[in-house]
Amino acid sequence: MTVFLGLPTAPRGVGNLRGDQPFPDAARTALRDGQLRANLGHATSTIRAKRAAVVGEVPDWAQLRAAGAALKRATMARLDEHLLALEEQVTARGGTVHWARDANEANEIVTRLVRATGSDEVVKVKSMATQEIGLNEALEAAGIAAHETDLAELIVQLGHDKPSHILVPAIHKNRAEIREIFLREMPAVDPELTDEPRQLAMAARAHLRERFLRARVAISGANFAVAKTGTLAVVESEGNGRMCLTLPETLITVMGIEKLVPTWRDLEVFLQLLPRSSTGERMNPYTSLWAGVTPGDGPQEFHLVLLDNGRTATLADEIGREALHCIRCSACLNVCPVYERTGGHAYGSVYPGPIGAVLSPQLTGVEDNASLPYASSLCGACYEVCPVAIDIPSILVHLRAEHVEAQERTTVEALGFRWLAKAMSNPRLWHAAQKAAGLGRFLARGKPTMPAALPPPASKWTRTRDLPTPPKETFTQAWLREHGG
Ligand code: SF4
Repeated sequence: MTVFLGLPTAPRGVGNLRGDQPFPDAARTALRDGQLRANLGHATSTIRAKRAAVVGEVPDWAQLRAAGAALKRATMARLDEHLLALEEQVTARGGTVHWARDANEANEIVTRLVRATGSDEVVKVKSMATQEIGLNEALEAAGIAAHETDLAELIVQLGHDKPSHILVPAIHKNRAEIREIFLREMPAVDPELTDEPRQLAMAARAHLRERFLRARVAISGANFAVAKTGTLAVVESEGNGRMCLTLPETLITVMGIEKLVPTWRDLEVFLQLLPRSSTGERMNPYTSLWAGVTPGDGPQEFHLVLLDNGRTATLADEIGREALHCIRCSACLNVCPVYERTGGHAYGSVYPGPIGAVLSPQLTGVEDNASLPYASSLCGACYEVCPVAIDIPSILVHLRAEHVEAQERTTVEALGFRWLAKAMSNPRLWHAAQKAAGLGRFLARGKPTMPAALPPPASKWTRTRDLPTPPKETFTQAWLREHGG
């Protein structure tokens, strides 16, 4: 007899997928920060407008989006075969492939590889996968310094802060705050530094240049990997990625197993969808592609670490698996009314916003991120903008149901809904309930919403929601009046 114990999720105590507080508590703190809300409002509205303009000029955007969604679906259906093909191709071209079941294994592999080079520092290309597994912390514990080279990641690292957006990790900081961080943390910075963007960029450039030139090891993520040719792809805007991917002797890439595309032609679709959806550019300035090792050109040692960390468990869920189609463009964050107000830290995971609300709970197991599927108004804006048409609202509802079903004791909310279901399926009960609700009009005294919150335990519901005054006429009464019975 065989017993199926389930698929492993991302382990606890390592990485950055779980917050210290549930979302509502963290969100309450974030909402009190006026500066944060101003920074976020300004940044997200600017990116939203840029995206809308460049997407609007592509006549076949809808077809491109459908192609992206179909490709992701087809790839996931045969992920095992594509992964083996990728391994074969990378190995044939002089690279080494490592399989990491979870964050602990991935961190151990990378630490061992860096140690083997004799180096005690690395330069890093911005990578969500390495943030997910807490690689910087693991390297630091092993005495290896990891230098972030993406400007926003550098700001976050120097500020001893955490990223709050997939694409713009320092979106919660404004120019004045960045200037303060640079003055405090960069040893050789000009004390006359202003908060003018060009000056800030030049200061970061000088700070990083020296690190690029001396680093012997680089660590990157990957936006895509082409299974058929073993080609890895990193798209970026600043050129820091190109420096890391070409200058050091050793390159280590940590990639989630879902980042695969089967062929080069498939890559063409995503290279059109990604920049317009993420930075609002027609094309990203730097696209670096490499396959294995080329003698005398670029890194002479290449390691690819393929990371699971809960992805296989996610793939096993027929509805939830769509979250693995994400190409991390962050368009859903920028349109989300919840994200725009709370910012990314409230989600407690490196994946914030709508995609984080469906991806993090699946990677960790819903019980470890149970509040995240509720961090949404279900308005559907995230689905509208997603370049690979991930139906985030449906996954949110699915995960909420999973969480409710896993509850061992019956909550007041569940009892309320049970009663509501009973009333709605019995006309006499329903009419009686409507009559009783009509009493609320006396309390409202002509106001559109009830003046007082409901008493406990229903106060939990009305604490953050207006309770509308019941209308004079029900829908059925209005229908009968208009159309007769
Ligand atoms: S879910 Fe869609 S919109 Fe959101 S980051 Fe992923 S690809 Fe972009």
